[in-house]
Amino acid sequence: MEEFKIGLCPYCGMGCRFYIKTLNGQPIGIEPYPGGVNEGKLCPKGVAAVDFLRHKDRLKKPLKRTENGLVEINWEQAIKEIAEKLLEIREKYGPDTLGFFSSARCSNEENYLLQKIARLLGTNNVDHCARLCHASTVVGLAQTVGAAAQSGSYTDIPKAKVLLIWGYNPSETHPVLMRYILRARDNGAKIIVVDPRKTGTVWFADMHLQLKPGTDIVLANAMMHVIIEERLYDREFIMNRTKGFEKLIAVVQKYTPEYAEEITGVPAKLIRESAITFATAGRGIVMWAMGLTQHVTGAANVKVLADLALICGYVGREGTGLFPMRGQNNVQGACDMAALPNVFPGYQKVTDDEKRKYMAEIWGVEDLSSKPGLTIPEMIDAAAKGELKALYIMGENPVMSDPNTKHVIEALKNLELLVVQDIFLTETAELAHYVLPAAAYAEKEGSFTASERRVQWNFKAIEPPGEAKPDWEILTMLGKALGLPKFDYSDVEDITREITLVAPQYRGITPDRLKREVMGVQWPCPSEDHSGTPRLHVERFATPDGKANIIPVEFKPPAEEPDEEYPFILTTFRIVGQYHTLTMSNRSESLKKRWSSPYAQISPKDAEKLGIQDGEVIRIVTRRGSYTCRAVVTEDVSEGVIAVPWHWGANILTNDVLDPEAKIPELKVAACRVEKI
Ligand code: SF4
Repeated sequence: MEEFKIGLCPYCGMGCRFYIKTLNGQPIGIEPYPGGVNEGKLCPKGVAAVDFLRHKDRLKKPLKRTENGLVEINWEQAIKEIAEKLLEIREKYGPDTLGFFSSARCSNEENYLLQKIARLLGTNNVDHCARLCHASTVVGLAQTVGAAAQSGSYTDIPKAKVLLIWGYNPSETHPVLMRYILRARDNGAKIIVVDPRKTGTVWFADMHLQLKPGTDIVLANAMMHVIIEERLYDREFIMNRTKGFEKLIAVVQKYTPEYAEEITGVPAKLIRESAITFATAGRGIVMWAMGLTQHVTGAANVKVLADLALICGYVGREGTGLFPMRGQNNVQGACDMAALPNVFPGYQKVTDDEKRKYMAEIWGVEDLSSKPGLTIPEMIDAAAKGELKALYIMGENPVMSDPNTKHVIEALKNLELLVVQDIFLTETAELAHYVLPAAAYAEKEGSFTASERRVQWNFKAIEPPGEAKPDWEILTMLGKALGLPKFDYSDVEDITREITLVAPQYRGITPDRLKREVMGVQWPCPSEDHSGTPRLHVERFATPDGKANIIPVEFKPPAEEPDEEYPFILTTFRIVGQYHTLTMSNRSESLKKRWSSPYAQISPKDAEKLGIQDGEVIRIVTRRGSYTCRAVVTEDVSEGVIAVPWHWGANILTNDVLDPEAKIPELKVAACRVEKI
């Protein structure tokens, strides 16, 4: 029998809806769903979203490492042994030798449960992949406007008169969002793109500021210098709704466009023009992604961009806003659920005695740890040093996604216990002591929160293969085996209801409602009869005094700069037809055929100097490793810059140095050399 079930795309943070077409219970295709934020449209990944579901490589039974490698065992035995080992390690070395990686590709309920397990075991060592993408956004927005989330809705985009798209290439990362951007352009909006590469988005831009990687602060400060010099700022907004403008004036004074040109490579005239265009538009939106955040100054980069929007009064009104765009389908939700080492669900600090007491009461324990836990890179380092003994990884593949791959592998091999819960035997799972087979998105229920804070229900369309189980079910089994209190969930909705008690933003977002309102609800939603919040910061900011903090920032160069041995700047990017570490997308024949192999972009001048022809195989070398791929000679990158899509393992090259504030690695800048093979 042919059926159509409403689905939710498992890839990026756009939150696109579609129909999953099934025949006799098996998935056979994706069909457009007329509603949804995607208005019936999908990008190539969304169209191919059923391809990996029945792939022969899906994990179907729990696995245990023995001297014969990974062998199948039954669920009861696997969960019992994992629980015993976790308790034994906790007993022997203490709770902070346990670590948990949660996932922005798992549901809110699953993220909620994993952090609950960590905290009930006595540690706050829980984090997820936002550490590698938007940790800087969380810190930067919390400090400036008080809420680590997109301030407006996608529907604000066509109402803007200027879009400043910074370190972000929606044409490949969120192609469906381009419809909103092009609508804005049709309505007369100017589009300014800041990117070291000429991306697909640049094709639609009025101005392209092609800056040298890692010089974002200089450029933003120079734009603010112009806006202040020309008195184009929004005086009333600054006076009534912000603090710190005077300090900003003092800091940006020296960042003249001419000074900025020397550092960023962007012509002073273009900096002036873009600043004036931005400030005089009346309604503007600032959008950003990893090009801005993955730096040793990631949090500072976000603050400076927030400053730019704030001095122009571009927050809290129609057609304005701060738009961090999420790479995975539940980055926002995983953060909201506190798969983070310093907060409980709803961003309530673990150091706050009152909040901790409340959480302990809900979870049925006397007290919880008040010591902020380790972030993902810190847990990897601790494992390498032998200080972290056990790591439980749900839906993440750090061997491919984290910087400095060799270091990650050494660290994971050093653990006494590595458990990986996933849908495929990833490069990380291959190193595990136990591998637990998880259900994919279409095989389970739960809620997911898209970039615009939109919480949507994910409906089950098909059964999982073999003995694979939804992550929430596996975690419920584990919680019970560990003897943790209040783990008697009979279905996923029990967990959703518990979330409404602990995360204030989700109070009115019940499972019944999400199932009824298929288009979802935007948080904050304080009660069941509240319609949700399309726009934040309308009357007051989410700071204690209701005012936004303008925080001036000085430029600090990237951790690695080109030198004689490594004369190029290496930067990384994503492409439309592959996704992150290839686990799902490369198991789609249509995607794999069209987006098949790794490459590196190199400028024609650099290629000529090195005698490299387009299509030739080259080797890229950094202080951490080397990587072989095809050269694409293109004007899309400037002289001195090498750009690689990171999906095929390019993180062997990237730098694991951390932003001291956000603890995000500097994935976007490293010094490298290029060798002709
Ligand atoms: Fe899926 Fe994102 Fe593409 Fe939409 S834009 S179909 S959510 S990958």
